[in-house]
Amino acid sequence: MKNLLVKGGLAALPGETEPRLMDIRIKGGSIKELAPMLRPEEGEEILDAAGMEVFPGAIDPHVHFDEPGFTHREDFFHGTSAAARGGVSTVIDMPCTSLPPVTSRARLDKKLSAMGRQAVVDYALFGGLSGLSIDEALAMDMEELAPEVVGFKCYFVSAMDTFTALNHYDFKRAVKRAAELGRPLLLHAEDASYVKAAEKAMKARSLEAGRAASWDDYADSRPEDAEKLAVMAAVILAGPYADSLHIVHAGTSEAAKLAAAAGASCETCPHYLAFSRDDFAQKGSALKTAPPVKSRGEADKLWTLLADGSISFAASDHAPAPEQEKHTGSVWSDYGGIPGTGTLFPYLYSEGYKKGRLDLATFLSVTSGAAAKRYGLSGRKAAIKPGMDADLMFMDPAGSYTVKGGELLSKGNITPFNGMELKGSVRLTLVRGATIWDAEEARKAGRAEAGILANPGYGKQLKWGY
Ligand SMILES: [Zn+2]
Repeated sequence: MKNLLVKGGLAALPGETEPRLMDIRIKGGSIKELAPMLRPEEGEEILDAAGMEVFPGAIDPHVHFDEPGFTHREDFFHGTSAAARGGVSTVIDMPCTSLPPVTSRARLDKKLSAMGRQAVVDYALFGGLSGLSIDEALAMDMEELAPEVVGFKCYFVSAMDTFTALNHYDFKRAVKRAAELGRPLLLHAEDASYVKAAEKAMKARSLEAGRAASWDDYADSRPEDAEKLAVMAAVILAGPYADSLHIVHAGTSEAAKLAAAAGASCETCPHYLAFSRDDFAQKGSALKTAPPVKSRGEADKLWTLLADGSISFAASDHAPAPEQEKHTGSVWSDYGGIPGTGTLFPYLYSEGYKKGRLDLATFLSVTSGAAAKRYGLSGRKAAIKPGMDADLMFMDPAGSYTVKGGELLSKGNITPFNGMELKGSVRLTLVRGATIWDAEEARKAGRAEAGILANPGYGKQLKWGY
């Protein structure tokens, strides 16, 4: 492994209010020394960072890379390449969108062997709690999975036959068990009884009117109240274990507030910060996710909660799907999910940090620091300081990035961010001192794929306490 000296960059350091001119010495893949003017040592390669802002590599703590079982949507090579391209150096993969889902140690081993050596950035995994196997999970599987995973994921409402929702009683048992094992329990928080009845009613509404179902029908089937009800139930049931509860992809500000008030953590995603349900008219199923984006005005409230720390961090909920699954002809059967891992950091940098909605400390927390803490990875990840892994990304603040779905490096190319112009461009992504993404190589070759310099398999699995 090469020893590097990153020279002349503006480094975003912990506790600072703005990036500072700082050289970074990297040995054996970790950060050894920081000082404004370091002299090169024998055998060191110099990485010129003049004019660049240097950030800790971003963490995307919520991705669906679908392997094994649904790799026509995404796999670890494409998913981690898309991540690296967007400045992400660590991803955390969800247990529910693979076959089999990761609900036991044996199934986790199946996933790891099916994945093989594909990842180009580091990754951690979540374990899953499905209604189909919750008794086995509580009896044994959670305990066996805990050393390998950084949290457990469950749903209050699920559209998957292979990974079903938990009822309130089982959820209560699960959050207690997760707390005993020292792992957070992640919840997809939409209320099942509301959503199922509303979906039925909205289907009837379009039929009675003699028209095809509309995006308003879809949005009305999963409104703000569905999220608020679910979070309220979750914090009641979690009771003294609320600090082990994490609400994934909150799109409703009042739901996020309920979580924060109870001591639970919570994440939101760029699509909730960028769009409202009014945008379905123009974006169609490119914008479809569950929960759906909410009413106009919600996004501003979510920004405020992100800025004041009520929402702990951002995640992409990366979940691509091919054309024939995204555009089926019905709002009900179109696949819900966005290939977002590559636009997560660029979006937050441009619309959050550059526009002054997030100060530097909050931006660092939202894009890497808080997720590393929550998932037991802060020993070596998510800060530019000696002793940490040299996971860095160079942002050219004078550059710009126009999102193009076909150049994300993901298997999916249908994104509501298509065409969006963002300030700043990701020039380089390093994982443990190795260059994974180099925008200059992509530019020279005239194709984005050429910017991925790591061999598949460079990325390694991270466990709690890393
Ligand atoms: Zn998800």
